[in-house]
Amino acid sequence: MSAAEAFTAEGGCTCRAVRYRLTRAPLIVHCCHCRWCQRETGSAFALNALIESRELALLSGQPELVATPSNSGRGQKIARCGACRVAVWSHYGGLGELVSFVRVGTLDEPERFPPDVHIYTESKQPWVVIPAGARAFGQYYQSREVWSAASLRRREALLGRG
Ligand SMILES: [Zn+2]
Ligand SMILES: [Zn+2]
Repeated sequence: MSAAEAFTAEGGCTCRAVRYRLTRAPLIVHCCHCRWCQRETGSAFALNALIESRELALLSGQPELVATPSNSGRGQKIARCGACRVAVWSHYGGLGELVSFVRVGTLDEPERFPPDVHIYTESKQPWVVIPAGARAFGQYYQSREVWSAASLRRREALLGRG
């Protein structure tokens, strides 16, 4: 069995109606310090594990996709448990529903998914200290400069270009 086949991680909402499983390692994990994420989480940043939606298996429940404004102007869809309303993942413009931004804090073992890159650090809370040596960008970045070669290939495959 390859490492990719052996990978699994589960998570869900607070009331446990929604449970899901990642069947592959994330493409990349973002720590986003933008004001929009700060507002939507009520916290200092959002931690999102990007994964192909076909690698995100719903085990129970049926999240409701809530249309929400986004900084890009293209909008986003936030998947929320219909009962407790906790947000479990989002779809953004660009790759749309092909990719899910899973909220790392809803995973059962969030410590397995530290950020690969910090983004929008220009609006980070002043007391948040980015670890020395961490990849960090004032705004966004070019995927080809940050994503692993394997993740870039997975993205191409997702877009039907692989
Ligand atoms: Zn719930
Ligand atoms: Zn953000």
